[in-house]
Parts: sequence; structure tokens; C-alpha cells
Amino acid sequence: MNRYAAVFTDAHGNREALAAVLGAVDAEGLGPVYCLGDIVGYGPDPSWCVQEVRRRGCTCVLGNHDAVAAGLRTADDFNPPALKAMKWTQAQLSDDERAFLTSLPTRRQVQTPSGMAIVVHGNLVDDFVSYITSPETAQLSLAYLHPGSYALFGHTHRPLAWTMTGEVVVRHAVVTDEWFAIPRVPTLLNPGSVGQPRDKDNRASFLVWDREGRRCMWRRVEYAIADTQAKMRAAGLPEFLVTRLDAGH
Ligand code: ZN
Repeated sequence: MNRYAAVFTDAHGNREALAAVLGAVDAEGLGPVYCLGDIVGYGPDPSWCVQEVRRRGCTCVLGNHDAVAAGLRTADDFNPPALKAMKWTQAQLSDDERAFLTSLPTRRQVQTPSGMAIVVHGNLVDDFVSYITSPETAQLSLAYLHPGSYALFGHTHRPLAWTMTGEVVVRHAVVTDEWFAIPRVPTLLNPGSVGQPRDKDNRASFLVWDREGRRCMWRRVEYAIADTQAKMRAAGLPEFLVTRLDAGH
């Protein structure tokens, strides 16, 4: 087993961003590659992203956008731009691509030499409905973890880590390109988003995962944002979704 895996999430149909991340993964010889869901939704290349994730044999879980795109769930909780993009996305996907999304589990357990990890799109309470955005919401998921186990999640598009020591929940800021030692207390790790970062850094984000050494490192990769935006405008996708890629929020 290769010691260094890669973890990414929330590619959201952004081909240029996903290709940039996978290029970095290849350049560093990382693998296997874990995908925490939301392969589609918002971006102009949902089919390409599904096919690429499949072709590479990434280990995936289902995201909320994937579930709606595949017809497994309604879009009742989507805001108007997200809903418009979702209707467009649904029309792009082939039956085959929908079937692939439908086949994805909502969470997986990964046994590593340094402990058990869970991969999930949004949280450990309801998989991908609610968001981990505060110490209170983080605690609900941290309570599901055994001492020494940890989880990898996405959904909020923000790279960070949460830990719980006793009752104390701490949000850890991410330092890019530096190892973060995963402590032996319940821990939640978010790689940040590939295709629509929301932490005011417009570069695609992913995680290098040293499963043996129980540590991880956040990475950022530049991509051709203007190319993605031009395709979004040509497809008639909401301007709000186009411009937010520049700001990374
Ligand atoms: Zn997402």
C-alpha cells in the first residue's frame, strides 16, 4: 500500500479545477484517491468529472448534489442559483453517469495502519443533510467517533479540522503545505473544495493523507478559473456562481 493517499471533495463539475488537482496528485505519486462527494452541481462539466472519477477508480461517497442529480433526492433545500444549476446538470448526465452516482454509498470505513477512519460527505449524523459549521454542530458528529478514530468530510467547502478532547471542541486553522498530526481524540478533517472554494482562497484545495503516519497536509493548486467561467456563461449558468469562483467564497 502506498503510504500517501489523496482526499478531495466538492469538485462540483469544475473540470479545470479537478484536472489541476489530479495533475498534482499524479505529480506527487499519491494514491489511492478518495472523493468525498459532490462531483457534480454548479460547474459546467459534470459528465467529465463523473467519468474522470470513475476512470481513475477513486473511492467515492455520495454528496447531496450527486443525490439530487441522480434523482435520489429532491432539491427542496437548494437556493435559486443552485436549483437552476442543478436542473441544467440533470439534463447533462447520461443514464450511465446517473447509475454510477446512484451506486455510491453515503459513507465508508477505511482501516488504516494508524486507526479507523470514516469518509462521508457532510457529517456523521445524517450524512449530507446538515452542515458542520460551529463547535455545536461539530460536536454532534465528533460524538459518533470512538477514541482514536477520525472522519474525513466535505460539504462546507472550507478546509479545517475539528477535535474534541473531553467535552472541549476546538477548530483548527489550516496551514497549507505543513503536516498536521491527527491526534488520538475524535477528529474531523475537511480537505476544502476542489471546484468552489469558500475560504477566500480561489485555488482548488485537497488533502494529502499519510495513513501510516496518522497525519495530513492541505494543498492548494491554481487552475484556469477564466476557462471555467467562460464555459459557465456559455451554458447560461447563474452569474453569481460564475463570479464567486474569482473570490473563492
Ligand atoms: Zn458541495
